[in-house]
Amino acid sequence: MNEYLIPLTSACTLVTLNYIAIKVRGKMLIESYEHLLAPLLTGLASIIMMLEPLPQTLGLIDLRSLPMFMAGLRYGLPVALLSTILPAGYSFILHENHGIFIVAQDLIAPALLSSLFHNKEYRNGFLDIPIRHGLQICTLVFIVRLVTHAYQAHSLSLEYAADQLFMLFIMMAAFILIVAMVNDENKNWRLQRQLELQANQDGLTHLPNLRSFISIASNAMRKRKVSIMMIDIDNFKLYNDYYGHLEGDQLLRDIASVLRHHINEQDYVARYGGEEFVLLSTEIDPLQLAVYAERLCTSVADRFLDKSNPNNKPSITISIGISITQTPQAELQHIISEADYALYESKHNGKNRFTFYNGANMDNQK
Ligand code: GH3
Ligand code: MG
Ligand code: MG
Repeated sequence: MNEYLIPLTSACTLVTLNYIAIKVRGKMLIESYEHLLAPLLTGLASIIMMLEPLPQTLGLIDLRSLPMFMAGLRYGLPVALLSTILPAGYSFILHENHGIFIVAQDLIAPALLSSLFHNKEYRNGFLDIPIRHGLQICTLVFIVRLVTHAYQAHSLSLEYAADQLFMLFIMMAAFILIVAMVNDENKNWRLQRQLELQANQDGLTHLPNLRSFISIASNAMRKRKVSIMMIDIDNFKLYNDYYGHLEGDQLLRDIASVLRHHINEQDYVARYGGEEFVLLSTEIDPLQLAVYAERLCTSVADRFLDKSNPNNKPSITISIGISITQTPQAELQHIISEADYALYESKHNGKNRFTFYNGANMDNQK
C-alpha cells in the first residue's frame, strides 16, 4: 500500500469513529459519565490510530495526536491529559523507538496546545467550536514537529518538512470534518432544546404555560401535600379599555415578573390563561399561606402604586383563591377548581384579597 495512503485511511477511520461516538452520545444519556468516557474513548481512538504503523523511513507520523486535539479543545486540559494515558501505555508496551519523546511530542504537546483554545461552552454544546481553532492547533503541532525534529537531527531536511506538510493537511481536513460534525450535532441539540422550552413556555410572560404546570404539579402531588393558588388580575378589562391592549400585555408581563420574584424558592408559578396565574406551593400551613398570599397581593399593589390613581383610573391589584390538598395524591383538576371557587369569593368580597377554600364556609381575608 502506498504509505501516503495510510494516514488518509486512518483519518477516514477517525472521522467515522467520531461520527459513531457523537450519535451514541446523543442516543444514550451518558453526559454524567463524560469526564470518564471522554478520556477513555479518546485514548482508544488514539490507539486505533497507532495500529497501522507508518514506515520509519518516512517523516510521516501517525494520527495518534488527532483525538487529543478534540479532547483538549472540547474538554480542556485535565481530560486531554487523562486521554494520553492509554496511548502512552500502549506506546511503552510496543517499545517504540524514542518512546518518551513520541509521547511528549504526539500526545502531551497536542493535549496542551489544544486545551489553550478550550472554552467551557464548547463542552456543553452551547457554543459552536470555531473551525479556525482546528487550523491553529494543527499549525502549532506542525511547528512543534519541525522544531523538535530540527533539534534532534541537528538539521531540517526539505523531505521531512514536505512530509510534515502533507500530515498537516491530512490532520486539518480530518479535524475540520470532526469539528463540523460536532457543531452540527450541537446545533440540532440546541434547536430541540429551544423547541421544548417554547412548547412549555407562555410566549407573552415567559412563565411556564399551563401544560407544563399540569405535568409538574401532578408529579409533585403524587409525592406530597401541596397548595394551589389561583391568581387573577383585578379589573383587567378596565385597564385594557383605559390604556389599550398593548399596555395590557405589558402589565401581564410586569405582574408575571413580580410574581416570579416574590414566590417561595421551591414554588412554581405559571400562566393559567388570560389574566390568570396559577401557583403550586409546597407550603400547606394555612397561617404561613395567609402571610404568603398577603405578601403577593401587597407586592403587586405596591409595585404599581404610581400607576393607580383615585381619579377613576383602574388600580392594579390581584385577587387570590387558595386550596390545600387534604390527602397526598389528590386530583389536580379538583384542587384547581376549589382554588378557583375561593378566587371567585375574593372577587365577590371586594378584590385585592385572598380567600381559602374551606368547603361551604369560605375563609376570606383582607
Ligand atoms: P375581575 O376583577 O373580575 O377579574 O375583572 P376583569 O376585568 O379582570 O376580568 P374579565 O374576565 O372581565 O376580563 C378579563 C380581561 O382580560 C378581558 C380580556 O380582554 C383580557 N385579556 C385576557 N388575556 C389577555 C392578554 O393576553 N392580553 C391583554 N392585553 N388582555 C387580555
Ligand atoms: Mg379572569
Ligand atoms: Mg381579572
